[in-house]
Parts: sequence; structure tokens; C-alpha cells
Amino acid sequence: MPKVTLAQNILAVNEHVAQEIRQSLSARGIRALNIMSSPGAGKTTLLERTIERLRGRLGIGVIEGDVETSADAERIEAAGAETVQINTQGTCHLEAHMIRDALAQIDLAHVDLLVIENVGNLVCPAAWDLGEDLRVVVVSTTEGDDKPAKYPQMFAISQVMIVNKLDLLPYVNYDLQKVRRQALSINPNLHIFEVSCQTGEGLEAWCDWLGTFARGV
Ligand code: MG
Ligand code: ZN
Repeated sequence: MPKVTLAQNILAVNEHVAQEIRQSLSARGIRALNIMSSPGAGKTTLLERTIERLRGRLGIGVIEGDVETSADAERIEAAGAETVQINTQGTCHLEAHMIRDALAQIDLAHVDLLVIENVGNLVCPAAWDLGEDLRVVVVSTTEGDDKPAKYPQMFAISQVMIVNKLDLLPYVNYDLQKVRRQALSINPNLHIFEVSCQTGEGLEAWCDWLGTFARGV
């Protein structure tokens, strides 16, 4: 079988599983978010701050994807969310069947919002539907201001871009306007939030928006 056909078949199977996940979560009134970034952009820290701020307002369940270790899942659990760790053992993205298996291990009774933290990678996670309702890409001021231009697919398929580590802006060579411009030229409908998980700047706006999204309003 030609390689391209095989890849298309695998993606078609993934799409089918993703649709089943989407329908079963939707039937329970749960909305799902897939959060993606390169390694070290601050997804886990952003999630910790988000869970802390939404505590009492929203039930959050988390699926943590990492190639190895359960360090991030332990941090998220400590922040107060029901968490399941997936170790992909070398695979550089999450696939829908991994989410289906993880969902069998999570108590969804009090979950309004399911957050899936994808493996740190700006390339292939963009191709794998996990049954989410919302895709969020996180970039940070320490990783260069050319990410949207270099990885356009990720920004094309996301509905939200969060620029993290705003507190480091004075110390790095990062053109925020350029990043906004690049991202919006790829995806004019992108919602953009600019935050610092250290100072808390911008987190209220992001959490309010997410709270509204999670209630489906
Ligand atoms: Mg992480
Ligand atoms: Zn991959």
C-alpha cells in the first residue's frame, strides 16, 4: 500500500474515534479543550494557574500527555483537578484512541471541562483530532517570534493563541506585534490572549473567556 494511502487510513480511523469521543462528551454536557505548544512554552504552568482560578466555578478534568514521566500530572493533580497521565512512549503526539482509554480511567461526574495537554510539539498534533471542541496553541516570548510563520498549520487549526511569559518581554528579542500579525494572517478568527503565569497578568481575561466557553454560552 502506498505510504500516503496508509497515512490517510490511519487518520480516518482516528477521526472516527474522535467523533465518538466528541459525541459522548457532548451527551454528558462536557466540553473538551486540546492545548498544544512546543516543549517548554508553559502549558502545564498555565493549566495550574487556570485550574486555581476556576476552582469552584468549573469542574475540570485533565488528561496529561507526555512522552515519559508523570511529573506534569502530579503538578496538575496538586492544583486540584482530576488527572490521568498518558505516556506515549516515544510517540510525539496524542491520538484519539489514547484519549478514549484515558477517559475510562477518569471520574467525569463533576467535570464540566476536559483539558487535554498534548505532547510538546508544534507539528503533528495539528493533524490528530482528539474529539475536542476547542484547540489552544501556546507560544512564549522565550522561543522566538517566528512560530506562526514556521508552523502555520497549528495556528490555522487553533481557535485560541495564548502568548505566555509576558513578564520576560523586556529581556528577550521578541516582537509581539509581529507574532499577532503573522498569526492573524494565517487565521483571522484567532482569539489572542497575552499572559504571564508569574505575575498573573492576562490570566483573568483568559479564565473568564474559558469559563464562558465551558458553559457553552
Ligand atoms: Mg507539560
Ligand atoms: Zn507526532
